[in-house]
Amino acid sequence: MKILFLDQSGKLGGAELCLADIVHPFKANSLVGVFSEGTFPDYLRQRNIPVKILTDQTLDVQKSSGLLAGLKSIRQLLPLIGNVIRLSRQYDVIYTNTQKALVVGAIASLFSRRPLVYHLHDIISPDHFSATNRRIIVTLANRATLIIANSQSSREAFVQAGGSPNNLRVVYNGFHLDRYAEHVKRAKAEEKEIFRNQIASTFIASKTGIENNIRPFIVGHFSRLAPWKGQHVLIEALQHCSDDVVVLFVGDALFGEEDYVQQLHQQVKQLKLERRVRFLSFRSDVPQLMMACDLVAHTSTAPEPFGRVIVEAMLCETPVMAAAAGGAAEIVEPGQTGWLTPPEDACQLADTIMNIYHQPALAQKVAEQGKAMAQRRFDVRATNAQIHQLLQAVLSAGKAH
Ligand code: UDP
Repeated sequence: MKILFLDQSGKLGGAELCLADIVHPFKANSLVGVFSEGTFPDYLRQRNIPVKILTDQTLDVQKSSGLLAGLKSIRQLLPLIGNVIRLSRQYDVIYTNTQKALVVGAIASLFSRRPLVYHLHDIISPDHFSATNRRIIVTLANRATLIIANSQSSREAFVQAGGSPNNLRVVYNGFHLDRYAEHVKRAKAEEKEIFRNQIASTFIASKTGIENNIRPFIVGHFSRLAPWKGQHVLIEALQHCSDDVVVLFVGDALFGEEDYVQQLHQQVKQLKLERRVRFLSFRSDVPQLMMACDLVAHTSTAPEPFGRVIVEAMLCETPVMAAAAGGAAEIVEPGQTGWLTPPEDACQLADTIMNIYHQPALAQKVAEQGKAMAQRRFDVRATNAQIHQLLQAVLSAGKAH
């Protein structure tokens, strides 16, 4: 099967990591068209996945922008659309992975008469999108032969926004279980303790760190820095936790949220939490870092479309707590495979952190149950097989016409 995959982002976010795994089995005959250079095309090249940068223009449709910006950007998109029309004639299917890719792919599919697939990684709701952008997404997505939603929550929001349920299927993100199993095995061979001590030592220093003889309880937060990812809620909660609880923020501002990053640093300073908070920026050793944590906290203030980091923490056998909304609530069974707390409730978050802190045996048991569940439900071999089957059906339907 020859597939032209399209993704607007040069940055490596959850949707792009997911796409890289989907593309892999098709890479001999497929191409990923990306709308700008960056860490995502680099990531694909490192994995020998063919990638092409399709435009040298910076596109400016923000999620929150209105009709005017939308129309202006259509003019800007024309050369790119022309490019994609020509290119897509060499492929069987156009597979779009983001909203701007959907706009370009949907128009191109009209001209090249190739079936359109849309992988929906977002909750199409006012929390995340302007009314205009919701309308554009739904109208274009309804033209697709297949829409793959990354969770039931994304599916429901799409239908509620006017999306057609007919060609809509849910496929969760998949993960390479062997990679995590390998890390867990090595971690058990005491590497975890060594790495943990390295991390802990960044908190333990005479003036700026916690006391030398204390073993910090490390809460890890793995996400790009953005207001709706709720890093500020965890900082607020930290002041209600005991002094040996520390927080590690892993991730960068990917989409111009520099003001928010400043606010976070300011908040840490105001609450005098400097010695208990570290910002590590973007890291490519997420599994090792997760294994060095006592707890992974997910604190999104708006419903998370899926929440890869929750599954990743489970596969690392690290206890995980998440904000009870969206995909997170589909992944976590409270008290069995993790914990859920109401979004934006810093006091409940602090209470839950302290409960887990006080019950290490229970935390370990829940983490083991979480790992077993994640291995059952989120194996990339199974999710890729589902997608392969769906794409075969798209091709067969195309041939029947
Ligand atoms: N991630 C990473 N390095 C970082 C922070 C995050 O590789 O420093 C990865 C993380 O492991 C996860 C993805 O980025 O696979 C984020 O996906 P998620 O679904 O949690 O959120 P999204 O960014 O898609 O909103």
